[in-house]
Amino acid sequence: MSRTLDPDLRRALAARIRYYNEMGIYDFYQRPLPEGGDEVAATVVVGEEETNISERTLEPGEEMSPRKAAAVALPVVDENVLESIAPNLEHGVKDPVKALKIIREDLGDCTRCVLHKQGRKQIVFGVGNPKAELMFVGEGPGADEDEKGEPFVGRAGQLLNNMIKAMGITREDVYIANIVKCRPPGNRTPERDECETCSPFLMRQIAAIKPKVIVALGATAAKTLLAMSASMIQLRGRFYDFKPAGVRSNDPEWDGCKLAVTYHPAFLLRDPRQKGEAWKDLQMVMKELGMKAPKASS
Ligand code: SF4
Repeated sequence: MSRTLDPDLRRALAARIRYYNEMGIYDFYQRPLPEGGDEVAATVVVGEEETNISERTLEPGEEMSPRKAAAVALPVVDENVLESIAPNLEHGVKDPVKALKIIREDLGDCTRCVLHKQGRKQIVFGVGNPKAELMFVGEGPGADEDEKGEPFVGRAGQLLNNMIKAMGITREDVYIANIVKCRPPGNRTPERDECETCSPFLMRQIAAIKPKVIVALGATAAKTLLAMSASMIQLRGRFYDFKPAGVRSNDPEWDGCKLAVTYHPAFLLRDPRQKGEAWKDLQMVMKELGMKAPKASS
């Protein structure tokens, strides 16, 4: 039988749902239990998985990933608590410029992971065309990016600009972001929990921009976006069907995009012999987007 939630329980439920939101889980709905039950289970739909969270527990040694979810069992309520709390704030905002602004405001002066107190100067949100067909996603800001508040502005950024130019477009045509938005100290690789805490905001950016192709730059970006672990050799050379985990686009006609993996420009600076391989990856992307490389000037 339906009943109104006790205010304390409602507050606890709201806090729990916000926690799931921050883990990148936004879509909840209620499903009645069999006859005689006085509870409903909250089911979370994340990516292509549907997990009944009242029964789902992580196996020993299993780690949380953006494509997996934990969940709660909820008393039957006569008010739509879930709907009023759960959707991401930009849901229903069709203009990607406005949607990105809302996501940035929601991120705020973020302290959600330890990187906020490890020397960052500022949050590096992302830059470029909010209606880009092509997105590049790197690992995290370095010293130059932390200083300027923009991704890929140092030496690796110059190389990325050259790679984009070689494709016949400019940096302003694409959107560039990172898995984590704060500089890891000493330019270390971001930890898995930092990636998992920060990446839901990137997923929302992707859903707002609705690109046709994403290029993951380096293993950290690829593994986080694809929620899989493999070597760069295994990850490169093919397209993946990609949908941002835990968030739905406002556009019902956007059913995800293609994702390709290539080397991070910082790696290419250390090992320029791999530039030819990266160019092969970009040519694959150009073919998918119907782009032609500009003729070399004589
Ligand atoms: S890396 Fe992301 S989650 Fe962590 S503090 Fe910065 S913005 Fe927040």
